[in-house]
Amino acid sequence: MTAEIIAVGTELLLGDIVNTNAAFLAQELAKLGIDLYTQTVVGDNPKRLKTAYQQAYERGADLIITTGGLGPTQDDITKEVAAEYFGLPLVLHEETWENMQALFAKIHPHLPIATSNKKQAMLPKGCHILPNNNGTAPGVYISQNRQKIIMLPGPPNELEPMFLQEVVPILQALSDKMLISRIIKVVGVGESLVEQKIKHLITAQNNPTIAPYAKTFEVWLRLTAAAANAQQAESLINPIVQELYNIFGNTIFGENDDTLESVVIKLLKQQNLWLACAESCTGGMLAARLVNQSGASAVLKEGIVSYANESKINRLAVDKNIIKEYGAVSAEVAAAMAEGLVAGQNNLVGISTTGIAGPDGGTPTKPVGRVYIGLTIPNKPTQVKELNLTGDRTKIRTRAVIAGLDFLRLALLEK
Ligand code: ATP
Repeated sequence: MTAEIIAVGTELLLGDIVNTNAAFLAQELAKLGIDLYTQTVVGDNPKRLKTAYQQAYERGADLIITTGGLGPTQDDITKEVAAEYFGLPLVLHEETWENMQALFAKIHPHLPIATSNKKQAMLPKGCHILPNNNGTAPGVYISQNRQKIIMLPGPPNELEPMFLQEVVPILQALSDKMLISRIIKVVGVGESLVEQKIKHLITAQNNPTIAPYAKTFEVWLRLTAAAANAQQAESLINPIVQELYNIFGNTIFGENDDTLESVVIKLLKQQNLWLACAESCTGGMLAARLVNQSGASAVLKEGIVSYANESKINRLAVDKNIIKEYGAVSAEVAAAMAEGLVAGQNNLVGISTTGIAGPDGGTPTKPVGRVYIGLTIPNKPTQVKELNLTGDRTKIRTRAVIAGLDFLRLALLEK
């Protein structure tokens, strides 16, 4: 099945609102294995909207999903134009109208409902209604011959649950096949290199399909197989997954819902280790990422933001001569920060960050983006990783955190 998304609203064209609905729908359609080759944004103009519907079907779409324009005002035209396109009259749907009145009475007990709201209960004859539990406008599904259209409300808090609760089962029922997806997550390898390494798989892809998604410092590879049952789908996916592991080895940090921090937490737990963080340029972001993950309390002992030299000297026992000789941003100071943090404590891993996040502070020998990660693991020599990162201050700090977590993950895997 091929789908197109049409987002309706002049506000979108003017850039007053960002088209997050299209992003949400595109991601969900990919999960369902439905092809999406075109998205359109069109203003609240009946002629142009009708042309947009026509063109989508002419391009070969089986399904159009629209967002927005289901409201009570005159410029809400999505449903009206679709009814005209399909030659269906709009008729009052009593149940929807009653629900709307009840909802309105609950919110505004002393006000009569405006008659303009009735427009929202006027629905194309014979359409399938998608209940809206979070607002007044129901969604509408029309299916005529090969042409299908699903119209969803604009507010994301209405559209998203409606899609997940009402639309997903419809789309699944339209397909006689079951779709199973598995996401393989790679870290620290650039998107273009990942694509180069799997070019042969992408070129030959059929079932499963393979789609790369670039994230910050991560690339996710989504494999989607269509088959009569889950077992068959898995058996189509497994050999490709095996090949991905052969290609990417331990740069694959996890699958599906795994996050870098959840994997690190799991490894620390398995090895009965605790973690302490001493952060300079990342200012607590590394510890915060771990705390974001439930289960962090089983492994995270403490995090110290050690920014000034004085703190590094007083709190982490970094020798002031080391700072003087090598500078606060140096491999030597990163190592001393991690070691000072865990000194004399058992089963404790120490990780440290020190770097130049910019935009100021760079020098020819230590440019902006230079970050050192120190890591000390019980019974192993302290390790330091030098990073040369690009981007603005936020990107450099975020990337330092991800690289730090990955450094820790790889070191724990080696243990
Ligand atoms: P309502 O019944 O609230 O009028 P509607 O279906 O008519 O809903 P619109 O009037 O087009 O939807 O949009 C209502 C609000 O929904 C917008 O002001 C905006 O906040 C949000 N919205 C609309 N379209 C999108 C979109 N494509 N992406 C994200 N948000 C959107």
